[in-house]
Amino acid sequence: MKRRYDWLIVGAGYTGAVVAERLASLCDKRVLVIDRREHIAGNAFDARNDDGILFHQYGPHIFHTNSDEIAGYLSRFTEWKPYEHRVLGVVDGRLIPIPFNLTSLEILFPAPEAARLGRLLVDAYGMDRKVPILKMRESAHAGVRDLADFIYRNVFEGYTTKQWALRPEELSPSVTARVPVHVSYDDRYFQDSFQKMPREGYTKMFERMLDHPNITVALGTDYETAKDEVLFDRMLYTGAIDEFFGYEFGPLPYRSLSFDFRTYRQRRHQSVGQVNYPVSHDYTRITEMGHLTGEWNGSTTVAIEYPIAHRPGETVPYYPIPRDENAAHHDRYVAFARKEAPDVLFAGRLGDYKYYNMDQAVGRALALFRKEILGLPAEALPAA
Ligand SMILES: Cc1cc2nc3c(=O)[nH]c(=O)nc-3n(C[C@H](O)[C@H](O)[C@H](O)COP(=O)(O)OP(=O)(O)OC[C@H]3O[C@@H](n4cnc5c(N)ncnc54)[C@H](O)[C@@H]3O)c2cc1C
Repeated sequence: MKRRYDWLIVGAGYTGAVVAERLASLCDKRVLVIDRREHIAGNAFDARNDDGILFHQYGPHIFHTNSDEIAGYLSRFTEWKPYEHRVLGVVDGRLIPIPFNLTSLEILFPAPEAARLGRLLVDAYGMDRKVPILKMRESAHAGVRDLADFIYRNVFEGYTTKQWALRPEELSPSVTARVPVHVSYDDRYFQDSFQKMPREGYTKMFERMLDHPNITVALGTDYETAKDEVLFDRMLYTGAIDEFFGYEFGPLPYRSLSFDFRTYRQRRHQSVGQVNYPVSHDYTRITEMGHLTGEWNGSTTVAIEYPIAHRPGETVPYYPIPRDENAAHHDRYVAFARKEAPDVLFAGRLGDYKYYNMDQAVGRALALFRKEILGLPAEALPAA
């Protein structure tokens, strides 16, 4: 006899795990969470390699948020370690802080010139301000425009072309608009109020989230198999919406990645968590896991990251490609879903075809739970 569940949740990443946890603990619903992978935690999955080093299998994940609610929610399932991410970029053979800031200026230009350019930026925008490069490129001041062009060419253009295999102008203008220049000596990559890493890693945090008597987790289980083997009243699908509908309107474009993990018998490989290669090499960045996790055991593991073309069914669909025409392509699927599968909820990075940071994925899942499952206004928090 087929087993019956109140909810089937496809995908054990942030979106699926948060909604499953809320349904199980607040609504007393029986939930089946499936994932085609052999592990929980989606792309945030981490594990120890043969050298005992905790590494992020699908690329480096750094947790940061300005939301007390999201930090508070996740803190039920993990303790945290402080970690503030710092990124250097190789420009002109020198290592400069990324985002480009006043220290970057001082490293790349002779002292009097760096001081002059620094004053120009502070006069134009004020100290401790993040200014989108697009805004700088449109400045009325020729000196600011020249500097913006220099940063654009040396820091942004090459990295973007490698990352997406598209020229910046072929991407949604919002991508360039967001790239900041930091008029500051603050060399942290993020300025969020909460910047920490889960003390025992992401997977442990997910284990606690899903550890509830109402939740059953089935790994190595694809939706295509599960749908005929279990009965369920409602479904949340956090996989790719185009795949769900058999690519009815063609596949949505994604960019994929290939990681080369290397372990070195040395304490540290680089001085900060991440080094970017905007101009040289085929890879975009090298991330050293020990910086992120705060663990050191005499060896160190780095992830060398190569952007690659995505082939549906063969590679991991990592990043939705931010182009207006792709958003419109996704809208067609959403309209189709409303007609053909009105009872199915689609959400998450793949379901919404949106790049979400982890905190945004949690925020989206909590809002979906409140609004679309409990029928409450999105901002009204149910008592835990
Ligand atoms: C390289 C990289 C680096 C990142 N770094 C950061 C970072 O530093 N900080 C940050 O905040 N965010 C980062 N992110 C974003 C973060 O990974 C996402 O916010 C998060 O994974 C979104 O969770 P999700 O549940 O929506 O999707 P996912 O984590 O992708 O989970 C979806 C799950 O659904 C499963 N699935 C799909 N289809 C099916 C199916 N048909 N049947 C069964 N299972 C299925 C998949 O196997 C997957 O496990 C990064 C992302 C990438 C790609």
